[in-house]
Amino acid sequence: MPEPKFRSFRVDAVVLRHSDYGEADRLLTLYTRELGKTRALAKGARKIASRKAGHIEPFTHVKLQLAKGRDMLIVTQADTVEAYQPLRDDLILTSHASYVIELLDRFTYQDETENSVIFRLLTETLARLASKADPWLINRYYEMRLLDHLGFRPQLFECANCRREILAEDQFFSYSAGGVICPRCGQGLRNVKPISVETLKYLRHFQRSNYADASRARPEPEVRDEAESLMQGYFTYLLERELNTPGFLKSIRA
Ligand SMILES: [Zn+2]
Repeated sequence: MPEPKFRSFRVDAVVLRHSDYGEADRLLTLYTRELGKTRALAKGARKIASRKAGHIEPFTHVKLQLAKGRDMLIVTQADTVEAYQPLRDDLILTSHASYVIELLDRFTYQDETENSVIFRLLTETLARLASKADPWLINRYYEMRLLDHLGFRPQLFECANCRREILAEDQFFSYSAGGVICPRCGQGLRNVKPISVETLKYLRHFQRSNYADASRARPEPEVRDEAESLMQGYFTYLLERELNTPGFLKSIRA
């Protein structure tokens, strides 16, 4: 009797990372179009002659045939869609691609939910990096879109404290309020970061524009540094807040 259809299915996936499993297997962490983040076991993938091995390196976009094993998904077939080879050949690009992957990996959990929007953002971002366009622009644009999709879109047009419209002058930014704070409110608040009017202009541009328009931006080095450290500070803040939740739950159960 043939296996029922649902026991085996095909997914579009990007390999986020892999780890050794048992004697010869690899456990893959994947971001898929059909299931969001998930994990699957590639049996025998560490054997030198394995046909699957080349397809399951990090950053690769693959089509995988998956079967439901007893307690995890098993890779039964792997075909490379796009290897993004420049991301492996150039160490600088490898580090930018690793940042893209790590951010997604840390902000998502296995929820078995289809997410074609984030999947497309991921594959488009890797393709842009592989095309050797400006990685600073590519990654700032990616951060802004990712914040949108994760529900953390920063407020850049009105003060996140008093709700008044933000004027063209230097401002502050609050991670906890999730946006720009006007100079009047910012004076009296703790834990706010200054943000120049130039940097704010570029962040707004990335938030409102499609990639074609955003990629025409040519910010000065100081603006690049300020925008990058501000966004990374915001991500770090959000991650710590997220990660505190399981710790808090643990402590009240204990
Ligand atoms: Zn204000």
